[in-house]
Amino acid sequence: MGEPAESDSLANLAESWLAQGSRWLTPSLPPRLLALYEAEKGPLRYRSDVTMCAVGIPLAAVFYVLLHGSQRHATPVFDRLYLGVLVPALVLSLIVVMCRPKPMLRELALGVPTLVALAVLTYLNIVASADGGMLYVAAALMLMLLATISVHLRFDLAVGWVLAAQIMFAVGVSGAYAGAPTVGKYFQYELMLIYVTSGAYMLLANRRMHAEQQRGFAFALREQTRRNDLTAQNRTLDEMTRRDALTGLANRRAYDSWLQALWAEAASCGLSTVGLIMVDVDHFKSYNDFYGHPAGDGCLATVGTSLREQLRGTSDQVARIGGEEFAVLLPGVALAQCADIAERLRLAIAAMELPHLGHAADQVVTISCGCAAVKVQGAQPKDLCAAADAALYQAKQTGRNRVCLGELALHAQAGTHSPAAA
Ligand code: GH3
Ligand code: MG
Ligand code: MG
Repeated sequence: MGEPAESDSLANLAESWLAQGSRWLTPSLPPRLLALYEAEKGPLRYRSDVTMCAVGIPLAAVFYVLLHGSQRHATPVFDRLYLGVLVPALVLSLIVVMCRPKPMLRELALGVPTLVALAVLTYLNIVASADGGMLYVAAALMLMLLATISVHLRFDLAVGWVLAAQIMFAVGVSGAYAGAPTVGKYFQYELMLIYVTSGAYMLLANRRMHAEQQRGFAFALREQTRRNDLTAQNRTLDEMTRRDALTGLANRRAYDSWLQALWAEAASCGLSTVGLIMVDVDHFKSYNDFYGHPAGDGCLATVGTSLREQLRGTSDQVARIGGEEFAVLLPGVALAQCADIAERLRLAIAAMELPHLGHAADQVVTISCGCAAVKVQGAQPKDLCAAADAALYQAKQTGRNRVCLGELALHAQAGTHSPAAA
């Protein structure tokens, strides 16, 4: 249904068209919607039209046998008209319909053969004796039903079809009964009245079917667009609930669900190890005290951006999980590599040389990192977090601005990377 803006404007068009209320006397869908409607119903219409034509051919054969058997029409002219005009017209319409022509040609391919059939029957009725005339009346009614309801010609063509049929019927009936003394004087007028009334009702039904189908299409279009809008809004809301407003990074909620998802999908993804770095800004309370809370916010945003920029792996994720705490999740990364990444983060923050005169030690903003890595099969997310937390605690205890490795590590000994240890 095209681009969102395009589908929005189509939905608005459908909305305002629906708001106009009853469609009885108003024209059909606006041109843009009508084109879309035709395009969408084309394949359905194709199947039913082919079926209609394909059923019409054997039915014509059955009628031929019956009519021929009745003796009334067992004449050379009947054979010529029936087999030379009617049946070829039916076959031709099947061929045209199967070529999936444009809607107008398709309608003509369906409407014209039925009109030809009525013309043939009318002629045969006039030339035959009047005693079988009721058969003609029934057949003429059936053809009108076929064109207006079964084939379901578009309304303007159906009106034309019915008018032409009324004229033929009047000619056929008056031609057949004009000299028939056995029927009452008004019989032919009564038949014509029935045909006119039936035509009017069938046209009403035809109009109503088209109106209902188009209304249904407009409803579906409007509902689809509303559903799309809701889905987009839900996606935005979900995104908002997983994002930290200050840093633009993922938040604790997203981090928790990443961890759960990693464990849930580890087996199918062939993931064995998960690394985690807990990051905490050093002496941040005194930063706030010295520079004020708004400056502290700015500092956190800068640190968050820098951490994200340092990550290179496509599946590496960073989240702000607390006030001045961040977590870096590294799927498939073992402890040694985890420590290298943490060290890169630590150096990157220190290299920014964000002034921190609120604390005497380094005079610039620094971070401490606790690293851990676990085998997914042998541990739970909470084990990984606890190990990384413990390593972070150790980093704080041993002087800050350093990287410590967690004890749960399976591939390395616990240890320390720091300016002092280096
Ligand atoms: P340590 O080196 O041991 O981590 O010391 P610290 O001062 O960083 O740690 P502490 O837990 O004592 O203080 C954390 C501070 O972070 C206190 C709190 O005001 C500040 N903080 C937490 N969230 C925010 C925030 O969103 N914005 C700002 N500006 N400050 C925050
Ligand atoms: Mg903290
Ligand atoms: Mg801190």
